[in-house]
Amino acid sequence: MIITEKKPIQEIIEALKDYQKIFLVGCGECSTTCKTGGEKEVLELKDTLIKLGKDILGYVIPKAPCIASQLKQELAKSINALKDTEAVLVLACGLGVQSVKDNNRFGQKVIPACNSSFIGVMDSKGDFLEKCSLCGDCLLDLTEGLCPITLCSKGILNGPCGGMDKGKCEVDKEKDCAWVLIYREMEKRERIANFGKINPPRDFKKTIHPRKISLEKK
Ligand code: SF4
Ligand code: SF4
Repeated sequence: MIITEKKPIQEIIEALKDYQKIFLVGCGECSTTCKTGGEKEVLELKDTLIKLGKDILGYVIPKAPCIASQLKQELAKSINALKDTEAVLVLACGLGVQSVKDNNRFGQKVIPACNSSFIGVMDSKGDFLEKCSLCGDCLLDLTEGLCPITLCSKGILNGPCGGMDKGKCEVDKEKDCAWVLIYREMEKRERIANFGKINPPRDFKKTIHPRKISLEKK
């Protein structure tokens, strides 16, 4: 999932300063889970903006605003409110914001209410953990399910680097060295012979932006 954090309210107020009639778009998936763009957060922000003198013409919370068909379906239900809107405030990740820009037929100003931080998992304690950097060439099979690109501060594919000290990372002494974790995992699974294998350099051509994958070609 995409992990988002709320922008400070002052930043949102500044972004809205030239607009009076506002429409809100939340997100029923990731931003609901992150407590940044679910119904509770949308209604809270709506109340705050009303108290600050803004006119809130309406709101929608598509299940996934990053999916055009779902977003369009929800926006269509509020077509009259949207017509009169001056700016759309989106409580979702950058994908949601850009999807609103691309799929709102009235083309008003689109303003983000959240910062997109990383893609991650939610653990059983409710913490969000960054686990993958979308490298386009997953090598988790070679590293026993631990991502060196994300967990190693330098993204080293054949570690550890010379700075590792007593199992800790030289960049952040509080953090375990990713390559020590990978070594221990290989040891546990009796696959330690793999540790000496050299992983080829990353092919950065696979991560040239913007990427596009077409389902029609599959
Ligand atoms: S190797 Fe790491 S960054 Fe690349 S796809 Fe796998 S988990 Fe993601
Ligand atoms: S100490 Fe380990 S985790 Fe830290 S940068 Fe070096 S190899 Fe990566």
